[in-house]
Amino acid sequence: MIIIGSGISGMTAGIIAAKEGEKVLVLEQHSVPGGLMQTYKRAKMLFPTGVHRLGSLNPGEPLAYYFKYLDILDRLKLVKLDENCFEKIYFPGKTYEVPMGHDPYKQKLFENFPDEKQAISTYFSDLNKIIANIGMYDPSVQPERDLSMQYTGSMAAYFKSIKVSNQLKSLLYANNPLYGMSSEHCTMLTHFIIADCYLNSSFRIDEETTPLAGALMDSFKSHGGKLATNALVKKLITKDRAAIGVSLDNGDKIFSNRVIYSGHPSMILDICPPELFRPAYRKRLANAQDSFGVFGVALKFDNIDCPVKNNDAFVYDSWDIDSHYYRKNILEDDKTGVVFLSALPNQPEKPCSVTALTGVSVEENRILRQYYKESKEDKYKRSKDIITKKIMDNLKTAFPNIMDQAQIVDTYSPVTFSRYTLTKNGSAYGIVKTADRFLEAMFQPATRIKNFFLTGQSISFSGIHGSIVSSIDLCSTLYGKDYLMNKIVERNF
Ligand SMILES: Cc1cc2nc3c(=O)[nH]c(=O)nc-3n(C[C@H](O)[C@H](O)[C@H](O)COP(=O)(O)OP(=O)(O)OC[C@H]3O[C@@H](n4cnc5c(N)ncnc54)[C@H](O)[C@@H]3O)c2cc1C
Repeated sequence: MIIIGSGISGMTAGIIAAKEGEKVLVLEQHSVPGGLMQTYKRAKMLFPTGVHRLGSLNPGEPLAYYFKYLDILDRLKLVKLDENCFEKIYFPGKTYEVPMGHDPYKQKLFENFPDEKQAISTYFSDLNKIIANIGMYDPSVQPERDLSMQYTGSMAAYFKSIKVSNQLKSLLYANNPLYGMSSEHCTMLTHFIIADCYLNSSFRIDEETTPLAGALMDSFKSHGGKLATNALVKKLITKDRAAIGVSLDNGDKIFSNRVIYSGHPSMILDICPPELFRPAYRKRLANAQDSFGVFGVALKFDNIDCPVKNNDAFVYDSWDIDSHYYRKNILEDDKTGVVFLSALPNQPEKPCSVTALTGVSVEENRILRQYYKESKEDKYKRSKDIITKKIMDNLKTAFPNIMDQAQIVDTYSPVTFSRYTLTKNGSAYGIVKTADRFLEAMFQPATRIKNFFLTGQSISFSGIHGSIVSSIDLCSTLYGKDYLMNKIVERNF
């Protein structure tokens, strides 16, 4: 079997197939494996790119089942965030602390919003109902009928239906940068999965000693898998409408009875003979909308000054938690809307690696890409400086001394992500599944080309957890869903 791409979804499919006794080769175009799991060094400090926090990794929680089955749980040093406050939400004039656990958070909300106890209770009972009625997010929950499609209404409509105040809505929906959709666009399904996942428990990975990408590679190799880097797949080789191999940009041809592609789905129109797909499918791929990309600032803090040592933070510059989705041009607008702040686990006495992130729309990224092409050292660099200043100005509202405490050691934009992982439009989460176009944006793992399959964050859900589920879904097609899910749950705690 050939797998194109060594991100979390490619590696998940690779480990499962290797465990099933297949001969697996992962082909990665970049010189470093891992896709969005990669880390990098600046000023002698390690920084993450696309993994800052993981949820539900306590024994018996949803992601822990998958990590255990992939043989990576015991290879990772996980550092739990502060149970009493794993994320702090800063609004103008008011800060909220979010504790882990459904009940502690519910109690905290009751204290802060005593007149809205009814709406808060409804929110949590709906959360539990949805989680209990959907398949695959939690492998230990297998409902008789998967009701996912019943929960594709928008969060904006949902909040209206349970009559929450604007202030409470802002707090409940403040984690939206983690799934990248406005409340008008985001489905109940997506919001409640993410809310549940991180409320159960939230962790950082000690990437210095146990990198996530490294743990996956070690597991993959221990099951006999092989990986080649600097291996850009240019074409799928087909015969009689079936995949029989791939050719690389250096002209090498590699043959195999199955090919799995984990990059951005729209790229398959370049890789595969397009006539093998129906025109309607080609159109759906070409018109699929991407999530926003991310602009990042890597910061170095003295340990004592680090503002997010044991919790993450969202810093909003207004109570409008959707404003950043409607911004026209980040280079011209006064505000960023929101900045997400996170850190790698800190070692006592050592400086802390902190990352500040803000969303950049597809259109804003188009401008940055243009500047990058025209003059990388001038226009593009100046644009990056402008955005960095806006991010730091935003952070000053929550952390007034930040300019004295933090050293800016690197900045990056969605253009950077496009270059290193071939992520179309530099999008952080791939194709978005909005409430109004949910079905249109969902793609099946099997394609019209026999033996050619898709996986990755764009196929079903994004994030590390969602991308794993994409590959579990794909492998269910190959090996049988009940068989696979039973094996995953069998690895109990
Ligand atoms: C800034 C940022 C922060 C994030 N933070 C979090 C977080 O804290 N927690 C979380 O759960 N999720 C987070 N995410 C989302 C998460 O990183 C992604 O959803 C997930 O890593 C996607 O994995 P993937 O395997 O689908 O794609 P990728 O990681 O992009 O892997 C695809 C791989 O395929 C390779 N490839 C593509 N085309 C070819 C080709 N033709 N030939 C060979 N190789 C090819 C690419 O180089 C790449 O390595 C974040 C994302 C971003 C951008």
